[in-house]
Amino acid sequence: MLNDTYRHKGLRKQLAKLLKEKGIESAEVLKAIETVPRHLFLNSSFIERAYEDIAFPIGAGQTISRPHTVAFQTELLELKRGEKVLEIGTGSGYQTSILLEMGAKVFTIERQKELFDKTKAFLPSIGYSTKFFYGDGYKGVPVFAPYDKIIITAGAPTIPDALLAQLKIGGRLVIPVGDKVQTMTLIEKIGAKQFEKTEFGEFKFVPLLEDKAWKG
Ligand code: SAH
Repeated sequence: MLNDTYRHKGLRKQLAKLLKEKGIESAEVLKAIETVPRHLFLNSSFIERAYEDIAFPIGAGQTISRPHTVAFQTELLELKRGEKVLEIGTGSGYQTSILLEMGAKVFTIERQKELFDKTKAFLPSIGYSTKFFYGDGYKGVPVFAPYDKIIITAGAPTIPDALLAQLKIGGRLVIPVGDKVQTMTLIEKIGAKQFEKTEFGEFKFVPLLEDKAWKG
């Protein structure tokens, strides 16, 4: 793969080991972390630190999440190969690539034009092809619904109803809910209008912005 080296591969192995120590158990998630070349998703000034467990700016005031956060959310999805996943907040495309690497069919949506354009061009260039949408994630992508899994990668004040409606019965939705800090929340859809909620620890995300705040 373009600009990937044995040194980078070694650093990824160490990162996967660190995430395991931090409590990530899924072998499939750890394997994906070991495979996706995170350094290629960062501005060149951060490349040296790409395999530390930290977030970085990716432009348009947004960030690529910490690897631990990506792994934690992905593990909660309990993804199986071939499942349809809706991702809200494409950003750098790193989380998208982790999902693709695990064999998911991914539909990803981004509201910042600059990031949408950049990532839509970049991901296929490193071998990850998927469906990109430019728009408001609060509305989801109803034409391809229902989804087996839905992942929201920005902090949401509330859980959008449209996304709950687009989830399959038996499906899982993972969303950080809250204002300044967010509680990682898992929603399991157990009936057409029945949901079970489980809350996990606190995380910090950039906000999921509504249409009215659109600056893109
Ligand atoms: N998954 C990304 C994380 C990016 S941060 C990665 O791995 O890099 C969250 C992203 O959500 C930002 O790119 C932000 O622009 C986007 N976002 C915020 N509100 C949104 C909305 N309503 N619809 C779609 N994307 C949104």
